[in-house]
Amino acid sequence: MSRNHDQEPEHSLLDDALSRLKDIFDRLDVADDVRARLAQPALALQVGIPVRMDDGRLEVFTGWRVHYDTTRGPAKGGIRFHPAVNREEVMTLAFWMAIKCAVVDLPFGGGKGGVAVDPKKLSRLELERLSRGYMRAVADIVGPDRDIPAPDVNTNPTVMGWMADEYDAIMRRQQRAVITGKPLALGGSPGRVESTGRGALQVLDMWAKREGRKPADTTVAVQGFGNAGYHFARLAHERGYRVVAVSDSKGAIYDAEGLSPEPIWRHKNESRELKGMVYCEESVLCECDRTTVMSQDELLALDVDVLVLAALEDQIHADNVGDVRAALVLEIANGPVTSEADDELAKRGIPVLPDVLANTGGVIVSHLEWVQNRIGEQWDEDTVNARMAERIAREAERVMDRAAKDEVSYRTAAYLQGIGRIAEAIEQRGTASDFGS
Ligand code: NAD
Repeated sequence: MSRNHDQEPEHSLLDDALSRLKDIFDRLDVADDVRARLAQPALALQVGIPVRMDDGRLEVFTGWRVHYDTTRGPAKGGIRFHPAVNREEVMTLAFWMAIKCAVVDLPFGGGKGGVAVDPKKLSRLELERLSRGYMRAVADIVGPDRDIPAPDVNTNPTVMGWMADEYDAIMRRQQRAVITGKPLALGGSPGRVESTGRGALQVLDMWAKREGRKPADTTVAVQGFGNAGYHFARLAHERGYRVVAVSDSKGAIYDAEGLSPEPIWRHKNESRELKGMVYCEESVLCECDRTTVMSQDELLALDVDVLVLAALEDQIHADNVGDVRAALVLEIANGPVTSEADDELAKRGIPVLPDVLANTGGVIVSHLEWVQNRIGEQWDEDTVNARMAERIAREAERVMDRAAKDEVSYRTAAYLQGIGRIAEAIEQRGTASDFGS
């Protein structure tokens, strides 16, 4: 592979993400130690992963595993397989994970992993070899008490199962709590697959209740019809919201009267089964009555009540923020709105329910999976959903109350909560003032 992954992109995702911290540090009046500690990741490992391809060639893929901050507990964060993954993106995603875990008070720090690969171009066996190879490459820095990976974009329970199995083989013992988002039969948790969508819907419900909005009068457009976006759309539809548009990497569909997410998803899955692949080649662009096909950009500019961003980072930026007409933006993806666009939305009075609060359902159920693995139990789905709902209700309520009381955005309120907790943990370990300076 000829790409130089050390070259940081001109527009620095990490700098943009870190730029949000200055105001938060000032408001919290944190010790200098905290500012210094959170300015860079604790550990960033780059690996070359040799994979024997089906035609006999050896291909070496570049991968990363990053621990951003582990003051509050072992690193926690997904593994992404995507051609555009790079070191900087993985560091930024790990940074957001640290904040997210602290916002909902989980005993975890922030981690993330990724491999620069287009997994749709691999056979199933090549994908398995890559997944196992990744685990072999990073095994020294993961573990139930060190760093617990999970699925992210283009990785799923099957991939987690292969990685967990490889870890057991390396350690020569069963260590189920090393990875979450596993298949149920390998120690996965009921409710994990839909947890991110379910949690995001709960946060939206809480907002709607405060605003006196009824689901039936609320239209929703969803960018990204993958694991997180689909389950959100399905549950929102069941709850009575009018999901009028969804998009994926190939295009978007719109129906003013409301779409039914399940048949659209089935259409994708049928194509997947027909092809016998782990990944679906098809799009949401199925034949449905009444639907209008539009571009992904048109979906972002729809006049809807809620614009849900569930694809990738950097989707709303300086060049297209002016097109957004929604009354609320709900971030399920990590970092889908740049800080510049965020300021612009704030100026226009469009609130954003931020990623570090709205997409925490997944990591909360991952924590519950880790707990179940460690105590040797498997709970039923109702128990898992109830525990998740309890945590989101408590922590989201705190964020929303703080936003109202301090007259700040939901993002600022969530960062104050998360960074406040991380800062307290760092300060409890001792700061410059304890050492006489
Ligand atoms: P996924 O791969 O299952 O789905 C991503 C979807 O986005 C796909 O349908 C893809 O076609 C679509 N997409 C890509 N580019 C697009 C574009 N330009 N316009 C419209 N759609 C586009 O991934 P996922 O697991 O659903 O994750 C989506 C986002 O949510 C990521 O940012 C991820 O980090 C975040 N997230 C996921 C979870 C989880 O549990 N799955 C938890 C927290 C956060």
